[in-house]
Amino acid sequence: MALFLRGVRKLPKDCLIFIESLENADKIHAMQYEFKDKNITVMGLGLFGGGVGVAQFLAKQGARVTVTDLRNATELSSSIKQLEGLPISYKLGGHSEEDFINGDMVVVNPAVPKNSKFIEIARNNRVQVDTEINIFFKLCPAPIIGITGSNGKSTTTALTGNILQETSRRTWVGGNIGKSLLSDLEEIKPSDIVVLELSSFQLEEFNSTKKSPHISIVTNISPNHLDRYADMDEYIQAKKNIILHQDSGDYAILNYDDPELKRWKNDCKGHILWYSAKQTMTDGAFVKGNDIVVSLNGQSMVIPCVSRIKIPGIHNLQNVLAASCAAYLAGAREEHIEKAITAFTGLEHRLEFVREVNGVRYYNDSKATTPESSIAAITAFQAQVILIAGGYDKGSSFEEFAETCARNTKAVVLIGKTAGKIQELILEKKVKKATPLIYTQKTLEEAFRQANTMAKSGDVVLLSPACASYDMFLNYEERGRKFKDMVQAIRASSGL
Ligand code: ADP
Repeated sequence: MALFLRGVRKLPKDCLIFIESLENADKIHAMQYEFKDKNITVMGLGLFGGGVGVAQFLAKQGARVTVTDLRNATELSSSIKQLEGLPISYKLGGHSEEDFINGDMVVVNPAVPKNSKFIEIARNNRVQVDTEINIFFKLCPAPIIGITGSNGKSTTTALTGNILQETSRRTWVGGNIGKSLLSDLEEIKPSDIVVLELSSFQLEEFNSTKKSPHISIVTNISPNHLDRYADMDEYIQAKKNIILHQDSGDYAILNYDDPELKRWKNDCKGHILWYSAKQTMTDGAFVKGNDIVVSLNGQSMVIPCVSRIKIPGIHNLQNVLAASCAAYLAGAREEHIEKAITAFTGLEHRLEFVREVNGVRYYNDSKATTPESSIAAITAFQAQVILIAGGYDKGSSFEEFAETCARNTKAVVLIGKTAGKIQELILEKKVKKATPLIYTQKTLEEAFRQANTMAKSGDVVLLSPACASYDMFLNYEERGRKFKDMVQAIRASSGL
């Protein structure tokens, strides 16, 4: 331990989380080879990196890997390309029972429905069922900061990673943010730190392994993915796995401004750090004028930087507070936090400033796939907002979102499956007010044109759909890129 500490500048005394990792290091390296010559089925290659990561890793470990997916080779071409040259068999366009009966292990993509008959077949045939993230947790020699929440996971993960990259500690960032870290395992050292974004789907399986991260952040809890979970309780239970299996030396960093998270106090086994953008906290982080204050065990770190944070909105301030707490526990100091958070301009598709044309500012918030994230976006602006929203129906309630549209927007242009439902609700909420004007359009292009005809200098045109994109696009990235292309194509003189 002493040797390790010498390599890291001024670690806070509270960072006890490293000891366990060092003790486990040798055992972990031995475990990496348990996959050799095993027959392993990877169920669900997907397009987000997790399936590719685990298939690459297992093939390199000498396993006989079969990748199976409901989608065909054309749909999965970008993922298959990354596996070129590896000895992998493919069963695409559907699954075959034999791949779930005869193998040694099935690695299931988190997007596969929990009640899939193929998972049941594997279990009935005593084939081990696991996930990419569980394998990573079992084998990772470094302490892990895990980040979840209904909204703000990727932003908080990126912020935490950026702060820690300012320190001398080697930092690995991955998980649901789009990168599997399995292929980096051999390079990850016990003295490094890992920052992982974790979705509720990934967290579900923590219940079987009884593992949680050493440091866990939960940004907020609001209804999401109710097309997968029976009810809100089941969704919350999946999220809660991020703290349920922590031990007394671990840390839970929770948003005090979130009513659901306040109720988690008694479920936490380790220390709790609360953060709030509204009030001061004893152990945790808060805002005081221009300062971000991180305080723990009577000691405080003050970072005068609020006015220089570039990402807009109270929600982003909350993300900064959460990331600062976690980074502090992992060894970051004032200068690291200040440098990283004032330089951070946000991630693509998250309230991303695209361009200003003739005084109209255009923002791409295509990643806003929940009503809460769009509410956060709309209320982040002082200016008049012309909103483009609507899309795939995940079973969310749009009541509060419609209320926010009725109160805080100049016009709303709706597209996709949810358009009619949202339109009705906004009409109900705005009562006799003239604004917002409400339109529905068939395509994003038409919606964009409509928004532009109304935009005046000083306004904001905001794509923040409050819904997933699957009814009209491959994913939220495609939707966001189309919006940005249209913004870039506007000729400044004419405005269109
Ligand atoms: P996630 O990974 O949980 O989807 P992101 O950081 O990718 O979160 O952001 C998704 C959307 O949610 C974006 O529209 C973003 O502006 C918004 N958002 C980010 N942080 C928060 C937050 N703390 N509360 C509400 N909305 C947020």
